[in-house]
Amino acid sequence: MSVFGSYLAAQREKLGLTQRQVASEIGISQPAYQAWETGKASPTVKHLCRLQKTLKVNGDVCLDLMGMDITPVIVERACVECDSVYKGGIYCPKCGKSSGEPVK
Ligand SMILES: [Zn+2]
Repeated sequence: MSVFGSYLAAQREKLGLTQRQVASEIGISQPAYQAWETGKASPTVKHLCRLQKTLKVNGDVCLDLMGMDITPVIVERACVECDSVYKGGIYCPKCGKSSGEPVK
C-alpha cells in the first residue's frame, strides 16, 4: 500500500464510507478506486478534484503523497517582437508585448 493509498483509506474510514460509495461519488468503478488505495494507480487531476470533495482531503497533500512535484514549471520564452528571452509569464518584460513563444 502506498502512502497516498493509506491516506485515502484512513480518510474514507474516518467518514464511514465504503470503497463502492466513494467510487460512485467520483464516477469510477470500485476496482478503479481500490487501485488508488493499493497504490496500483493514481487519480487524474479531474478525479482528484472530486476526491477532495468526497473524502474532504487536501489536493496539495494528495499530490505531495503521490510524489508529484507541485512546483510550477518555469518556461523560458522568446519574445516574437524583440527577440528577448525571458522566463515566467506570458508578457515580455522588455517590450511589454504578449505571446512569447516557449523555447524548446
Ligand atoms: Zn519583447
